[in-house]
Amino acid sequence: MAKIIDGKQIAQDLRSELKEQVAKLSSEGKTVALAVILVGENPASQVYVRNKKKACEEVGIQSLSYELPEETTQEELLELIEKLNHQSGCNGILVQLPLPRHIDEDAVIAAIDPKKDVDGFHPVNVGKLSIGQPGFVSCTPAGIIQLLKRSDVAMDGKRAVIIGRSNIVGKPMSLLLLRENATVTVAHSHTADLPALCREADILVVAIGRAKFVTKEFVKEGAVVIDVGMDRDENGKLCGDVDFESVEPVASAITPVPGGVGPMTIAMLLCNCVQSLERMEM
Ligand code: NAP
Repeated sequence: MAKIIDGKQIAQDLRSELKEQVAKLSSEGKTVALAVILVGENPASQVYVRNKKKACEEVGIQSLSYELPEETTQEELLELIEKLNHQSGCNGILVQLPLPRHIDEDAVIAAIDPKKDVDGFHPVNVGKLSIGQPGFVSCTPAGIIQLLKRSDVAMDGKRAVIIGRSNIVGKPMSLLLLRENATVTVAHSHTADLPALCREADILVVAIGRAKFVTKEFVKEGAVVIDVGMDRDENGKLCGDVDFESVEPVASAITPVPGGVGPMTIAMLLCNCVQSLERMEM
């Protein structure tokens, strides 16, 4: 029987710690403020933005809300970002993705001041992560490191396999695990004999976006399995990339979906917001 890594509880612990930090900063006359920009009316994005604003409120972070119509031009969005880059009362900027098709996401991300880039997507922050300098780190992989540390999972010297090489999860995850002295392999859709490769892993991180793709054939006895996926099963129920029922008896620890990696992503966003205030003072 695997230990179930309780992301909900760990995220709650983190939020409580952040709440104290924000209160302390507030007593020193410092306000943490996050600008949240949403363009258009994508229903999933509206839910994400609402949840992020609610989480900010809970820990005492001020959120500055910018809800722009679908037809907003790239120029208008860039102008707003430029204004927020220079606004002293705003120390973090988050642009909810995806953006409408007529807007170039890369150009928008590149326009954010790296010191306010709380999503950690700016090329400067990505570069800093790759050369081991402090900077903002993408929230989901940063949250996974917290999950592992706070569950006493040793990473040093362990074999880690990540399935997925996206810019927001797989790639930064590989760099973070490397930083923790794991020996890291990144797999993707061209990887040969994926189950055999995954069976070498002490820590298996799965971020592919395919419901219940990873079964017990992928998992070494006693491995730690982290499921990043947020998918729907055949009945429309939320599930992960890992077939929990089949893998849980083989693993030593596993994250559930929901209640595993998901809650950590927002908690790390809040963490980055607090850090952004400190970074602005540097
Ligand atoms: P993505 O950008 O679509 O990348 C998926 C990756 O999986 C790609 O690198 C792809 O390989 C690889 N892949 C796809 N099918 C594969 C297969 N059959 N065998 C091996 N590799 C395969 O996805 P993402 O943004 O990283 O997200 C992955 C999942 O995590 C999604 O379910 C997403 O909803 C979820 N997610 C959750 C959170 C959270 O907070 N919980 C945050 C972000 C993402 P190629 O590069 O070769 O195409």
